Amino acid sequence: MTRRIGHHAHLRRAVLMVVALLASSACIFSLAQDLGKWTIHDRSRPHPPVIIPGTAGTQEAPGKPPSDATVLFDGKDLSMWHSEGNVPAKWKVGDGYFEVVPKTGDLTTNQAFGDCQLHLEWATPSPPHGTDQDRGNSGVYQMGLYEIQVLDSFESETYADGQAGAVYGQYPPLVNACRPPGQWQTYDIIFHGPRFSADGNVVRKARVTVLQNGVLVQDNVELTGPTAHKARPPYRPHPEKLPLRLQDHDHPVRYRNIWIREL
Ligand code: MG
Repeated sequence: MTRRIGHHAHLRRAVLMVVALLASSACIFSLAQDLGKWTIHDRSRPHPPVIIPGTAGTQEAPGKPPSDATVLFDGKDLSMWHSEGNVPAKWKVGDGYFEVVPKTGDLTTNQAFGDCQLHLEWATPSPPHGTDQDRGNSGVYQMGLYEIQVLDSFESETYADGQAGAVYGQYPPLVNACRPPGQWQTYDIIFHGPRFSADGNVVRKARVTVLQNGVLVQDNVELTGPTAHKARPPYRPHPEKLPLRLQDHDHPVRYRNIWIREL
């Protein structure tokens, strides 16, 4: 008898979990989509594409990307990237990762991207060197213009809008979710680029959501404009797609498992 009750409770919990998951995914869906002509539960409404989701990673090994992602680094080579002057990437490839080679300049993707979901993993040097901004500094520039800061902010202080997880110079992260130097950390970034009218006015500002190590650190914030040092310059018109850029800030920061899904 006890066993049967236990079994039923287990089943009920499973059903409730599925219902909750469906409800939450439907909710996310409705934000991005127009209800249009569709009435509730319309059976003729098209279904979304079926994909194979990725797997979770560990410190030892990254997970698998979802089946519809463009893989920008799979642990082997930097063929999807180039260095300044459109020359082959000058950063160092190690066993399953690549590393900033100080003074060689930023790394840029060969392909341009606009609205996207980006996953990447990074690790700052261990043992750590330096303090403040001079400690495990790099950065992820959406469209080559809008920086999500990469920094060793584990028990290391800097100005709030310049620590790891910050939209540099604009928004501090909601929490400091940093792991110690040397450990792999994840960024999952949802980015919507700006839109400009034909005469160059901003009709839609860029927005970004960032999860660091699975924790929400930027909640759909509206960017004031491109990233700059000690300045918040206004938007300048640009195409809807531009290459992604990783920053050489003179520190041997490592990256692995980079994939992107265009939205
Ligand atoms: Mg930086």
